Amino acid sequence: MEMYFCPLFSGSSGNALFCQCGSTRLLIDAGKTGKCIGDALAGIGVDPASLDGILITHEHSDHILGAGVLARRYHLPLYATQETWRAMTGKIGKISGELIRTVQAGKDFFLGDLGVQPFSIPHDAADPVGYRLWGGNISISTATDLGCFPENVYAAIRGSTLVLLESNHDPDLLRANPTYSAALKSRILGDHGHLSNEACASALLRLIAGGTAHVILGHLSGENNTPTLARRVSETALLREGIRPGNDVQLRVALRDETGDVYTLRRDGGTI
Ligand SMILES: [Zn+2]
Ligand SMILES: [Zn+2]
Repeated sequence: MEMYFCPLFSGSSGNALFCQCGSTRLLIDAGKTGKCIGDALAGIGVDPASLDGILITHEHSDHILGAGVLARRYHLPLYATQETWRAMTGKIGKISGELIRTVQAGKDFFLGDLGVQPFSIPHDAADPVGYRLWGGNISISTATDLGCFPENVYAAIRGSTLVLLESNHDPDLLRANPTYSAALKSRILGDHGHLSNEACASALLRLIAGGTAHVILGHLSGENNTPTLARRVSETALLREGIRPGNDVQLRVALRDETGDVYTLRRDGGTI
């Protein structure tokens, strides 16, 4: 069995990640307009009507902006925790009862050919989760919008074949940003805010030691980070430990407004 994964968009201006296993296709989050996401899917040869559902991580608009439109237009079930449903109702328009699915951190389920494992993440939302998706013995985990990297997150995603992890900001750039209020800065820097480049890099070291072979840096801030800087911080940390990016681990950066590569992960260990 093969798994396909593509970060359509990742960043504080909108998130949507595509994943396929067997004949099952889904999105994690739909935080751009329905049209924008539909166009991006078409760009990788996927008809939005062929999706089997959308997994929602939390109710912030950069994760749900197009969720209601896509669900209604293509009759797609939306999956979210009960508290996330409560918080996003009113923001995504009317969703008919038959498209409402409730998930719970720690409760695994199957969505077609994909095993889905939601896990709690520390973020200032009602009940935010990340997802680990299983196709046979291959797994893909996404963890963005987390202020720190606690043990429960590590335990949930350890050993994943591919991890998309938040590398949101450079703390110095953020602190020096004149357009951000003190309150916003402390929110982002807090334990329930967003993961810095440095915190991302140290989490990656643990994940790679646990067998993760593919890493994507995601949810970059547009103002307090650059793809080059995020990559440099992680690569420097890896090299310091004798891990060679490109050889021992594949490391890429998901861009905010540009659809990324489509990853193909195979059970025999072959990739891309
Ligand atoms: Zn976000
Ligand atoms: Zn958020």
